[in-house]
Amino acid sequence: CSNKKEVVTRSTFMLNTKLDISVWIEDKNRGVEIIQECFKRISEIEEKMSVNIENSEVNKINDHTQKEFISVSKDTSEVLNASLKYAKLSNGAFDPTIGKLVELWGIGKENFRVPKKAEIDEVLRYVDYQLLINNGENKFKLAKDHMRIDLGGIAKGYAGDEVYKIIKKNSVEGAIINLGGNIIALGTKIDGSNWRIGIQDPFEPTGTHIGVVEASDKAIVSSGNYERFSIVNEKRYHHIIDPKTGYPSENGIISATIIANYSMDADALSTAVYVLGVEKGLELIENMENVESIIITKDYKVYLSSGIKGAFEIKNNKFQIVN
Ligand code: ADP
Ligand code: MG
Ligand code: MG
Repeated sequence: CSNKKEVVTRSTFMLNTKLDISVWIEDKNRGVEIIQECFKRISEIEEKMSVNIENSEVNKINDHTQKEFISVSKDTSEVLNASLKYAKLSNGAFDPTIGKLVELWGIGKENFRVPKKAEIDEVLRYVDYQLLINNGENKFKLAKDHMRIDLGGIAKGYAGDEVYKIIKKNSVEGAIINLGGNIIALGTKIDGSNWRIGIQDPFEPTGTHIGVVEASDKAIVSSGNYERFSIVNEKRYHHIIDPKTGYPSENGIISATIIANYSMDADALSTAVYVLGVEKGLELIENMENVESIIITKDYKVYLSSGIKGAFEIKNNKFQIVN
């Protein structure tokens, strides 16, 4: 009966990016309904966590003083706690209190600009995840006035995991969830074989791959400087900021891909590894169970974590696996 399955795909624009969901299913109408339920769930998550929505829960914390704890939903609480976990694990390379720097640089807005050094130094005083406090009961506060949370490096990942749950609950055996490049390969292809997910060539237009990862029930998330950037005086500025310097992270990495069981983990870790650099990034990944990474540097070198060596082949010989 499996050969009666057909693919149903729907796309929309939320979370500041294009979202595509494809499910392989016999009843096409039910497929459309399942995808609509997924989009509704993503919209709920966006309402709670976006900094671009005035009354989001995250902005409620941002707009209050250091004295007041704010109650948030289980969703937001879970993402904030995960963001703190990854901030600690990465020694602050991933930092959910990056908000004021994101605003200063105008990231994600039309008003991108290169700030003066003095402005960056001033704003760095308001970036410190250790001042994001959870009182243990879904209540949070920022322990210094004017600090701002930004979950742009992790919320899309959480949305992916929630979509995965909805599709699984509906007994779908194969689906591809693509939330702005955060991919989840759910189940298998109709013939029972693994999904094959292409890893983007960071130097070429979208859809050109350096190689393929075989995956089933895995999240594959990349952070890179090739999709979201601005060019000022011939210098390229991208949207992942090193919380230690206040400037877009520059350490030779052009793309950091994480393969993990949960897309929230993969999302936070891809941003963290991008900031940490090859050596510390790989060290972080090697210390985690069921997490792998593919790091590409500007000089066309590819670094693999130990669990994916031998399972990832480069298709383009301009790239070279070096470890
Ligand atoms: P993308 O949004 O392209 O998927 P990322 O997942 O790496 O890329 O997230 C980048 C976003 O995360 C930025 O747009 C910003 O909102 C936020 N951000 C930037 N630098 C950091 C950082 N060091 N730690 C946590 N979040 C960050
Ligand atoms: Mg991320
Ligand atoms: Mg991301």
